[in-house]
Order: sequence, then C-alpha cells, then structure tokens
Amino acid sequence: MPALEKFALRSQRVLTPEGIRPATIEINQGRIMAIHDAGSAMDCPVTDLEQQVVMPGLVDTHVHINEPGRTDWEGFNTATQAAAAGGITTLVDMPLNCIPVTITKAAFKEKLASVEDKLWVDCGFWGGVTPDNLDDLDELMSAGVLGVKSFLIDSGIEEFPPVKESDIKRAIPILAKYQAPYLIHAELDQDHSPVPEIGNAYQSFLQSRPKHWENDAINLMIRLGQEARRQGYNGHIHIVHLSSAEALEAISEARNSGLKFTIETCPHYLTLFAEEIPDGKTLFKCCPPIREDRNREQLWQGLKDGLIDFIVSDHSPCTPQLKHIDSGDIEKAWGGISALQFGLPLIWTEARHRGMNLETVSHLMSTATADFIGLGHKKGRIAPGYQADLLIFDPETEYEITTDMIKHRHKITPYEGRNVFGEVKQTYLRGQLVYDNGQFSQGPMGEPLLREDQ
Ligand SMILES: [Zn+2]
Repeated sequence: MPALEKFALRSQRVLTPEGIRPATIEINQGRIMAIHDAGSAMDCPVTDLEQQVVMPGLVDTHVHINEPGRTDWEGFNTATQAAAAGGITTLVDMPLNCIPVTITKAAFKEKLASVEDKLWVDCGFWGGVTPDNLDDLDELMSAGVLGVKSFLIDSGIEEFPPVKESDIKRAIPILAKYQAPYLIHAELDQDHSPVPEIGNAYQSFLQSRPKHWENDAINLMIRLGQEARRQGYNGHIHIVHLSSAEALEAISEARNSGLKFTIETCPHYLTLFAEEIPDGKTLFKCCPPIREDRNREQLWQGLKDGLIDFIVSDHSPCTPQLKHIDSGDIEKAWGGISALQFGLPLIWTEARHRGMNLETVSHLMSTATADFIGLGHKKGRIAPGYQADLLIFDPETEYEITTDMIKHRHKITPYEGRNVFGEVKQTYLRGQLVYDNGQFSQGPMGEPLLREDQ
C-alpha cells in the first residue's frame, strides 16, 4: 500500500513534546521514525504543510456508539467517520447503550464482531460493572476491555443498574490487580429525592440534579478508594464527565494523600452555561447537567491547576424522536450531547480567550488521554517510535458550525450556529490519510484496541 511507504510531513508548526517548532516528520510503515529540522534534505517524498499545525491525533476516551442493538442511535461506521473528521484517531467506546450492554465476555465478543469493517479510526472498549456481573469481572478484563465503568445512579438503561457500596468494595481490588481504571458516573441521590416537575424548563432540570449529588458521589469514591488502599489495593478511580466544580477541593486533597484519582470533563461543561440555555431546547440536556457560568470558569481553573486531567467528548447521541426535539420536553428527552467531531475547535476557541496555548489543549485531548488508557508509549505524542496518528489543524480559521458539516448519524447538535476557531484539515491514522478536507479514505482502516497486558 503506497501510504505505508516512507514519506515526510514538513511544517513551520509541529507540536512536539518540547513545544511547537518548525520540523520535518519522517514516517515509515505507519510510524514516526525521526523528527528532523524543517530545512533537512529528505530521501523520500515531502509534503510541505507550511503554516498549518501538525498535532498528535486526539484520543477521546468517552464515546457512546450504541452498536450493536441501538445502531439507529449511532453506529461504529458513522461515529468513527465523525471522529476522523474531528481529528480523533483513537476513541474508546462506552459499555452502554448498546444491546447487550458490555458487562460479560460474550457481550464484548458480540461488540467486537459488530465493528468489523466499520472502524475509520482505532477504537478501544470499556466494560461495565453492575451488581450482577462481579463474578464475571475477571473474565471481562481478560477479554481485553481497557477498564470498566459503573453508575451510582440510574443510568437510563434498565440492564445497566447502579452499583452499591458493597459492589464497589468488591470491584476495586479486582481492577487494581489489572491496574485498570474504574470509571464512575458520579451522581448520588442519597435522599432518594422525588422527581420534580420539569416539563420544558431548563432551570427546573438543573435544580433536579444538584451539585451535591456529584460532590457526594465523589466523596464516597474517595472514601472507598482510601479504604481499599489501606487494605493494600491502590486502585485507580476515575470520575467521568465532572460538572460540579465544587468537588475539586476534595479531589485535590485525595490526590495529595496519594490516592490514584483522575478526573475528566467535557466540551459542553466548558463552552456552554445554564444562563444561556433556553427552555425547550432538549439538545442541551445531559447528566450531570450543564451548570452556571461561574461553575464553568471554575472548571477552566481546575484544568489550569492540573486538577482536571483531560477533556473528552462524552458523545451520547440518540434519535431525534427520543430527544423530543419537536415537543421541547426536557423531562422526557434522552440525556446526552452530540458533538463528537467538534471537540477541538470548541475547546480551542474557549482556550485561546483564556490564554491557554495549543500545546496545553493538545496535552488535555491527546497525550493525557493516551496515557490514561495505557497507550502513552505509542499514541498521543509526535516523537520517534510513536504511531503516526496526526491531525493537520488551521487554528486561525473562524467559521460557523452548521448541520451539514455533521458526520455522526443524526445531524443534530447543540452547537449549531456557534462560531468557532480552528479547522481540522486532514487526519492521518498510523501514517495513512483517512480524512482530507471533507473526504474520507477509500475504506475503514481503524483497528480494535484490546488491553495489551492481558
Ligand atoms: Zn457518557
């Protein structure tokens, strides 16, 4: 295949671990062989990208693809094309809302069978822990999932029920053995609050899922993590999609005490805020909810302080019918934000206003996430020996997000009409050009990624 032969990419702005600099990247057989000075003579074809930024491909470790079983919500073909168009070269699929949910080895095998010839980028998989599958957890881990996720509250999916404290106490030592992260949807309703009337009122929805649900859940996980640690199990607990910035102080203390405790947040918590969400706009519904502007600024501070480890999409689509777009009924609408391919321009637009540079954004969306899933030795950096997963980015272009750009299945997103900076021009997956200015490669070239030390 010609794409695998030796070639080089030259740019005045290559984002290396040492910073952005002029360089020529020598690529052979899908790997980065060397980083030369920009002016070096090369013995292979050279593409000069001039001022366009060459960055590591994004690694998005939180994506709901819903196949098999709910492919009418989203599937591997459309989701991974959207990923390629957004500069994402690796994503990790969540254990729900597919059917069956990925909580057994057999279900995982079904999922692996369903991805064949549909992956346009590389794709890893999370498993799940529910009260019913703790006896099968070793088998699931051995089958190659990268880690597992649990809910502390209703997941919206009957066959993926929340875990209790006793389940978590059993799961942590098993996962510690594999050094795999335990992902937690951190909302905990200790008082079993009655569901209030929400209808189409966003503020009512926001009030129905208060910050203390997140704070309480995180405090519980810190306590259980510390208990396990005292018993000799230093498990890695990871909080998915943090929205409440109030939890950051407890997280900071837990980390200082030596607990392996990591945090992610998402573009919607960093770009959108409750004060500007109109009533009846169900596209903005997700759990935990998008909170007030002041909370959003505190999340940005958490990123700057290194308390929040990385940014992932939590792309969680469904059909327009289930989103109740026409009725505007926020109460009935499925919760989840659809925006897989727009993560980088959304975050870059906000980051540049706050004096955060592109190197930091790249760290938060590529390097830190690659490290999180144990692939930091071959993905998430532009350095010799790494896979040539690259995205070509024009950070200065400004444009409006329109629905005709959308590559995921249902052409709906809360970001329609939003002005952003930064366009993904091209995406290379292991040295192969998989996305080129609106066009995809001849066929899907992505591969399933299984945990390596199984
Ligand atoms: Zn999610």
